[in-house]
Amino acid sequence: MAVSAMTALDCAWGFYAHRQINRLAIFTLPPEMLGFYKKNISYITEAAVNPDRRRYVVEGEAARHYIDLDHYGDSALAKLSVSWDLALTKYPEDTLQAHGVVPWQIYRTYIRLREAFLVRDPDAILRLSADLGHYVGDAHVPLHTTVNYDGQLTGQTGIHAFWESRLPELFSTRYNYLVGRAAYLHDPQRAAWDAVASAHHALDSVLGFERSLALQMGDRRYSYETKGRQTVRVYSQEYAAAYHDMLAGMVERQMRAAIRMTGSLWYTAWVDAGQPDLFSLMAYAPGEEELRRRREELKKWREAASGADSILHR
Ligand SMILES: [Zn+2]
Repeated sequence: MAVSAMTALDCAWGFYAHRQINRLAIFTLPPEMLGFYKKNISYITEAAVNPDRRRYVVEGEAARHYIDLDHYGDSALAKLSVSWDLALTKYPEDTLQAHGVVPWQIYRTYIRLREAFLVRDPDAILRLSADLGHYVGDAHVPLHTTVNYDGQLTGQTGIHAFWESRLPELFSTRYNYLVGRAAYLHDPQRAAWDAVASAHHALDSVLGFERSLALQMGDRRYSYETKGRQTVRVYSQEYAAAYHDMLAGMVERQMRAAIRMTGSLWYTAWVDAGQPDLFSLMAYAPGEEELRRRREELKKWREAASGADSILHR
């Protein structure tokens, strides 16, 4: 029996947390940006999960959501935390691709967003803003920075969805989401690496606390819940609460950091594009062609996902 009733689409910071991060990032923006983003809040929120949907269809997409820092040894950050071109002088491209590229993907998406602002293309601004929030969200999940991404190497299989889906779903209504205003980032590539580094620093606690709690609570680790017509094994509420307490606000901290960084990258892209007037885009509504494109994409993603194994997102 699966640890939870996850479908192929139901993963990665949980869809719930990704949507929250994108939605709340909007409220960090300055007045010059706020109106346009608020007007499109439903799209930005819903499209937060597009990159996960896309990974069954677009080659290379899967690698954009994580980075196996521990694959590269102790000085991974020193060796890697540079531009893509410089990293390519140290490792072959297929090695970098195989072990994930999320920090570079954040930077690439920021560049494309800046270009979309430059040409004032509302479809692209919205699409890329939503994508960027997703990758930033993933970079803040400690288990997205390791080869042991689901605790599979330490007898803790299932911890990925436990940490990033079940915990936020159970406890995030109590989180404080007043994260302040978006800040200008002088070096977006460096900021992406800083996010990944700090998520990776939290990894020992994520795994270590769960390991000791499992020993302590024994068979109270799991319980059964009915979802639709299925009964599934889940981490029990009691166990989740105990683990969440041990983490001492980590999930909340990581979500807050992801929200603030998402807003800051949107803001930085806009500033670096010369602060285009977004009020002139207030009348924007997606045209027939854009709506058709979105519908077709969704259909394609759904078909691909239903054919895919229910594998865990990384
Ligand atoms: Zn993802």
